[in-house]
Amino acid sequence: QAKRAGRDRWVLYDETLHTMAVERLATEEALRHALDHGGFRLLFQPIVDVADGRVVSAEALLRLEHPERGTLAPEAFIDVAEASDLIVPIGDWVLQEACRQLARWQARVPDMQVTVNVSTRQVSHLALADQLDRAARDSGADPGRVLLEITEHVLLDAGDAAAAELARVTDAGSRLAIDDFGTGYASLAYLKRFPVSVVKIDRTFVEGLDRPGEDTAIVEAVIGLARTLGLQVVAEGVETAGQLAALRRLGCTRVQGFHLGRPMTGEELADVLDRSRSAGGAEDWLAAVAP
Ligand code: C2E
Ligand code: MG
Ligand code: MG
Ligand code: MG
Repeated sequence: QAKRAGRDRWVLYDETLHTMAVERLATEEALRHALDHGGFRLLFQPIVDVADGRVVSAEALLRLEHPERGTLAPEAFIDVAEASDLIVPIGDWVLQEACRQLARWQARVPDMQVTVNVSTRQVSHLALADQLDRAARDSGADPGRVLLEITEHVLLDAGDAAAAELARVTDAGSRLAIDDFGTGYASLAYLKRFPVSVVKIDRTFVEGLDRPGEDTAIVEAVIGLARTLGLQVVAEGVETAGQLAALRRLGCTRVQGFHLGRPMTGEELADVLDRSRSAGGAEDWLAAVAP
């Protein structure tokens, strides 16, 4: 009896594994299809200067238009993209598209920037600096206005070759931001060893700023540390006016989150950019986002 139950359990386990493998293959197939047929899209989320409400940058966020499942966020496919190395050509497309969009914004607002997420595989593949160089040249965008977001894991995983690749990127004038800062295991020493210029405070810390607690102390400490090291700080995931007020009080200079704007198309972002910078509209825009 027990033996029988055991065997059934194995069958079940086996089927689960099988289903997972099939799903993985289907996702890989969808990614290849999207690469060949223009099935990826970039959305852009505004990054706002707290002092005057100007949109100073935008983060490029990848979406997959799945023929059956509709628009998918990275959570649904980025792991498979990384495991299969498809992230290398996908990341190339992201850089190309982000630079194309940046060039359009810069035609009206020359100091506009764009930030692009980069995963470990893209760095270890050692194609990143070349990809960025080509994307900037093809589009006419200024590589000095392209910021690459890497997580602490990328720094932890980086061997000497990957570290040299990151140095090539910054030699070309681009800058590095640490994404989701505080959620990984990188020590502060990494901030010294790598040419990082921006720290993005993860939204799990921003979330708690509305109420008394440790998050305020953590955010305050990160801002102080960044200031000492000469790094810029961006707070992610700002969803409420209360969080924005707290960040302003703590001396955070740049903010990003649903309260300031959801991820949107490049054209929509151009409108928001104009409004945040125009003589007549800037006050309205600021009053709307930061009353
Ligand atoms: P991330 O880089 O930390 O990006 C921020 C994520 O938080 C985005 O999710 C964004 O939509 C979401 N977000 C922004 N503001 C708020 C807010 O106020 N509240 C909440 N709850 N969420 C907010 P998204 O677009 O689903 O991207 C998820 C992750 O996927 C990104 O996290 C990034 O790690 C990765 N990713 C996105 N695009 C790319 C890409 O082109 N390449 C690579 N390698 N990874 C990417
Ligand atoms: Mg990011
Ligand atoms: Mg982040
Ligand atoms: Mg995050």
